[in-house]
Amino acid sequence: VLEPEQELRAGQDRFDRLEGMRGAPARRVLEPEFGPGYGKLAVLRGQAQSSARPAWRLWSDSMRLVLLGAPGSGKGTQAARLKEHLQVPHISTGDLLRAEVAAGSPLGLAAKEVMARGELVSDAILLGMLEDRLSRPDTAGGFILDGYPRNLAQADALDGLLTRLKQSFDYAVQLDVPMELLVERIAGRAKAEGRADDSPESVRTRLKVYDDQTAPVIEYYRQHGQLTVVDGVGDLDDVFTRILEAIQPGH
Ligand code: AMP
Repeated sequence: VLEPEQELRAGQDRFDRLEGMRGAPARRVLEPEFGPGYGKLAVLRGQAQSSARPAWRLWSDSMRLVLLGAPGSGKGTQAARLKEHLQVPHISTGDLLRAEVAAGSPLGLAAKEVMARGELVSDAILLGMLEDRLSRPDTAGGFILDGYPRNLAQADALDGLLTRLKQSFDYAVQLDVPMELLVERIAGRAKAEGRADDSPESVRTRLKVYDDQTAPVIEYYRQHGQLTVVDGVGDLDDVFTRILEAIQPGH
């Protein structure tokens, strides 16, 4: 196992070699902006600007993340950006369920009313759906999971599923946003998007479900040493940069 410093240097060396091949030393581009001895973030940013190859591939062959955050925490928005940046699929269980509802499948019919009330769809349905999705070849290099796990049973089930599929796990990233701000943001989104479950009644239920059932999942990942907490307040770009910092190795 490499120390964070060694790992950082190894990552930079590999990055420099890649850049060198194209005749543009990373240091010359990055040091003026980030100062001498720039860290992995500089490598990440520089790499994002200069190449189609996602930076995490310099130190790992997969990137598997769970994004945790209350309704309105900005989880979906950040997940979509992470998908572009990391080049791994964004798997939103809410989106998968909404697709089933739209298609009028038996699963969709079973889920529709529960979702409209803001309650949780059954663990068994979710696990089956997730197993199908994670078994597809596009998840070989990783994924960003958004909306799952929502309770401790699902967190356990995910660990079991990844073990079965022989997939590793990197981080659970919690987007931390105070309650007052959540309510404000959801009200804004209700106007903008008109989601069926953004009625005041359903929003109250979803926030309560989050507090009662999903918040303990944060503790679960903390105890497993896999949690990283990111301040979700502020500018979208700033929050995104914080997430990138938080998923660097050795963080
Ligand atoms: P989301 O888009 O993540 O807010 O999900 C919308 C709704 O889909 C939730 O309020 C739940 O009714 C349902 N849902 C999404 N993910 C899950 C999950 N992991 N477990 C149970 N229900 C879920």
